Amino acid sequence: MKDKVNILGVWVDMVNIPRAAEKIMQFFNEEGLHKVYTPNSEIIMAAYKNNEFRDVLNNAELLTADGIGVVYASKILGKPIAERAAGYDIACEVLERIKGTSHSVFLFGGKPGVAEIAEEKLKERYPGLVIAGKRNGYFKPEDEEDIVNEINTTGADLVFVCLGAPKQELWIDKYKDKLTAKVAMGIGGSLDVFAGTALRAPEFYCKHGLEWFYRLMKQPSRAGRMLALPKFGLTVLFKGRKFKQED
Ligand code: UDP
Repeated sequence: MKDKVNILGVWVDMVNIPRAAEKIMQFFNEEGLHKVYTPNSEIIMAAYKNNEFRDVLNNAELLTADGIGVVYASKILGKPIAERAAGYDIACEVLERIKGTSHSVFLFGGKPGVAEIAEEKLKERYPGLVIAGKRNGYFKPEDEEDIVNEINTTGADLVFVCLGAPKQELWIDKYKDKLTAKVAMGIGGSLDVFAGTALRAPEFYCKHGLEWFYRLMKQPSRAGRMLALPKFGLTVLFKGRKFKQED
């Protein structure tokens, strides 16, 4: 696969943010649901250890590199991804392109009230954007069919599924044949960022691949989770080349 790099069994698309947005715009013109996930190093490690989850990721129509760890891994493996294409940034670019068109987005996820604030902020930021509906991300398994019906009834062709990883990827995969939208994107805490209830790292940190450091300073409780990053680096270094880059 020419345009993908195999990182520990996960085929990541070598795309930047505008190219990812372009692909999503094309998905609107095609049949069926297109699944878009943006794995970071933690998610790729989880997929490395769990074949079923790896298959869920590889079943996506678009997988982009969220995080500097994944970008470095692609360089180590000799198929460099130019830059990080985080879910939040791709979402912004897509919203910019669909505002004022007949495309509409459903906001699914976050704590109660967050999607409502995100809706208000998004309407200000993207005049003419159609927000078909919204729903918080806390539900019982028996409510899931109703949620799918609720999303389908709005006629949204884009769904932001913001339940955190791997919950959002597993949810999208489970309902891929029932959702009538054209695109479902698993984009973690993005609704919190749109709503302003969570802040993104300042540009300096993002630009220099230091977002992980910023998040660690803000939330020292993430320290345990962050050990995943060096572990991922070492695994790519020692095991990464065993994965073939051609089909
Ligand atoms: N979340 C949710 N339902 C759940 C668990 C989490 O809607 O059952 C939301 C949570 O409120 C937050 C997001 O999922 O908005 C996860 O954000 P986080 O930044 O932790 O995810 P990441 O992008 O790091 O995977």
